[in-house]
Amino acid sequence: MTSRTHEWHGGDWGLSMISVGNSSSHLGLSRRAPKRAWLTSLALAATLALGFSQPSRADQPASNGGATLFQNVRVFNGKSTALSAPSNVLVRGNTIARISTGPIDPAGARVIDGAGRTLMPGLTDAHWHAMMIRATPALLLGSDVGYTTLLAAGEATATLMRGFTTVRDMGGPSFSLKRAIDEGALPGPRIYPSGAMITVTSGHGDFRQLIDLPRAMGEHSRVEELGGAAIADSPDEVRLRVREQLMLGSSQIKLTAGGGVASPHSPLDVATFTEEELHAAVEAAGNWGTFVCTHAYTSISVQRSIAAGVKCIEHAHLIDDATARLIAEKGIWLSTQPFVDIGGAAALGPAEQAQMRQVVAGTDRLYNLVRKYKIKTAFGTDILFSQALAERQGQGLVDLTRWYTPAEALIMATSTNGELFAMTGLRNPYPGKIGVVEEGALADLLLVDGDPLADIKLVADPDKNFRIIMKDGKIYKDTLAN
Ligand SMILES: [Zn+2]
Repeated sequence: MTSRTHEWHGGDWGLSMISVGNSSSHLGLSRRAPKRAWLTSLALAATLALGFSQPSRADQPASNGGATLFQNVRVFNGKSTALSAPSNVLVRGNTIARISTGPIDPAGARVIDGAGRTLMPGLTDAHWHAMMIRATPALLLGSDVGYTTLLAAGEATATLMRGFTTVRDMGGPSFSLKRAIDEGALPGPRIYPSGAMITVTSGHGDFRQLIDLPRAMGEHSRVEELGGAAIADSPDEVRLRVREQLMLGSSQIKLTAGGGVASPHSPLDVATFTEEELHAAVEAAGNWGTFVCTHAYTSISVQRSIAAGVKCIEHAHLIDDATARLIAEKGIWLSTQPFVDIGGAAALGPAEQAQMRQVVAGTDRLYNLVRKYKIKTAFGTDILFSQALAERQGQGLVDLTRWYTPAEALIMATSTNGELFAMTGLRNPYPGKIGVVEEGALADLLLVDGDPLADIKLVADPDKNFRIIMKDGKIYKDTLAN
């Protein structure tokens, strides 16, 4: 498999290089994808001749919203457990320029009278699947990716309208959606894409049917063609798949280290990748300046991930006390979700629902372990395959208050998540501070009717309570103007 894949890629690029400065006669030599080679050579020729380049992830055009002055707001800054005294906040371009309890000269800015409302950072979701909400698995696998991307585009706008200004996408082909949002083609959140979730044969993310076995070596299954998952069964294959995702623009890499709820073939208890395979991913991501996150519910899959150098564990609902202590001691991030009922598995079959019940049963113990060992913990929802469930994204924060105060929950969903996003370092597609209301931070802001620190339920009804939604200095929702 490995040698054939390398040969194919080498052949593709070799032909492209030759054809740029020469003629296209070599293209006929491409055994498998003459059209692809031809397009590649065209793109390369354009790059060399005209100086075009792919838009880089770090310098997407910022949507300049001019200047906005929020007057008379109480600020929840994303870190403090109390609101500020009445303040004024000036946004210039895409950043928060000034915060003061004294007057700020509007100097041409649009002035918004906050009338004592709360100004807070945009909410963020550290475990999201932008491509996998409005489409079911069957629809995703059976449809053109153009169609499912359009469905995801609608959901991206709805996500922003719920006040979620940033999401970390933990699996799915979200690169084009991210790019279109960043370029201003449609409203949506900032997306930290992982790209395809990398899995083993039979693992979480292997959506093949049994009749697809045995795998024809060198062939890709439908979910792999779509970029939803990538199957790898050796350290070499893992390296290849990780590097493909990095080339596509992943800001962090996601592997599935164990079974999952919505996996047709991998029970929750199984461990999948070997430590050597996980380490291959860690090394490839590290060379690229970023890190690996693993989907892992159980102690064995979490421990193996940590031994391999994984920096962030997704889920972990079924871990034991010793594993929680290990996560804390090693300074590993935990990105988990307050699964409090099996609603998330409502659209799935009875076997998946039974697995979901196990996870839900582990949620309470997990958050108690998190508190006991003070584990660095991010907030996410991991909502899948249901637009109706996605409408309850903010409810996840209400659910979190079974273990945290409203302020603690909101801090987690803003500044703490922002620290995890910043772990992407030089691969950060949105350099700048996210999740805080501070001078110099990115201007992702919500103006809220009422005080969410006193009443967390406000964030579960964004239509009514979020009067202004600003992302990157630009206002996407404003019901004060009406
Ligand atoms: Zn997930």
